[in-house]
Amino acid sequence: INRGSLPSVNGNGTRSPTCSSDRVLNLEQGDPSVFQSYWSKMEDKCTMVISGSQLMSYISDFTTLCWFMEPEFQEAVRRLHRVVGNAVVDDRYIVVGTGSTQLYQAALYALTSPGGPEPVSVVSAAPYYSAYPEETDYLRSGLYKWAGDAYEFDKNGTGPYIEVVNSPNNPDGTLREAVVTNRGDEGKLIHDLAYYWPQYTPIIRPADHDIMTFTFSKSTGHAGSRIGWAVVKDKEVARKMSKFIEMSTLGVSKDSQQRAAKIMGVICDGYKNFKSDELFFEHTRRVMAGRWERLRQVIDRNQVFSLPKYPKQYCLFSGELIEPYPGFAWLEAKEEEEIDSQKVLRGCIKVQGRTGSRFGVAQKYIRVSLLSNEEVFNQFLERLSTIKSMSSNGH
Ligand code: PMP
Repeated sequence: INRGSLPSVNGNGTRSPTCSSDRVLNLEQGDPSVFQSYWSKMEDKCTMVISGSQLMSYISDFTTLCWFMEPEFQEAVRRLHRVVGNAVVDDRYIVVGTGSTQLYQAALYALTSPGGPEPVSVVSAAPYYSAYPEETDYLRSGLYKWAGDAYEFDKNGTGPYIEVVNSPNNPDGTLREAVVTNRGDEGKLIHDLAYYWPQYTPIIRPADHDIMTFTFSKSTGHAGSRIGWAVVKDKEVARKMSKFIEMSTLGVSKDSQQRAAKIMGVICDGYKNFKSDELFFEHTRRVMAGRWERLRQVIDRNQVFSLPKYPKQYCLFSGELIEPYPGFAWLEAKEEEEIDSQKVLRGCIKVQGRTGSRFGVAQKYIRVSLLSNEEVFNQFLERLSTIKSMSSNGH
């Protein structure tokens, strides 16, 4: 461990307090700093100037259902999906949101109606993204309520439900399908495809589901812009989602939408011209592959944790058989069933991850972000390689 390293200043001008051995490495959130070095190399290609008199209105286009969506943003989203081939966008509605976080809530609202006898059950297969239970129940809605693991609901649950399918799944990186079966029209689906991009996973087919949410945060790494979008089949559902956003934030930042459109356009132009020396998805996939290779070496060497194994699958985007490289390491402590991996990692190597219990499973599991900048990632591997056993470090 390099005790001499100094706190660095990251691209947001804030100090990164994470790079000396006595400081905690915060790898609990999935802040996508890993992509920052790519965008630094793009220099002025993505720079845009917005004058004081531009983008002042609430309204983008009153003739469309999602009237606060910038036409340039919508076009850029459709173009990006066509270039990548990860989602069907022809004859689909696009709804823009303040991150896909807002769109998740908009979708819950759109799929439920006032006046039902009971709140609709919301489920997702464990381990599920920890924000689903928190966001679902935060406002104690009478329309819907968190009902936990979808496998349990499949066995014992009754009544109307919404299943959230997160594919590839946060935290464990697996490609998923809905698990609740044979319920006629009682069930509705939300597909959260935040990580269905070629740097993380093979693109196995253009996804074509009723409601699919995507985010600028994980596709390009621009989490700070707070931009997400939904691709929606049904007009009424799209209208209700737009209404939710109108009621909660009266639209979505136009500055951010324009910036997102610009950046997506730069990515797509790269593929059109094929003269970009560094294409975005190829570059970022290489970075993720390199991180996974190094991570697996450390994990294999110290034999304390295991990682999921992912099958290679044919990727339509790259035309090759490729492995997934998820944005998180989902670590399972091998030795002891009862161990609290979060506590041990925090206590003995000062790495802050997120415990399995937040994802609906045992606390021997821990999720650690692999999306940090290079310096933090290197520190993480160095510290991880010093762990020899969980039990001797643990209590
Ligand atoms: N879904 C999943 C699976 C995520 O991991 C995240 C971000 N951690 C989100 C949704 C929300 O992303 P955002 O609000 O930044 O678009």
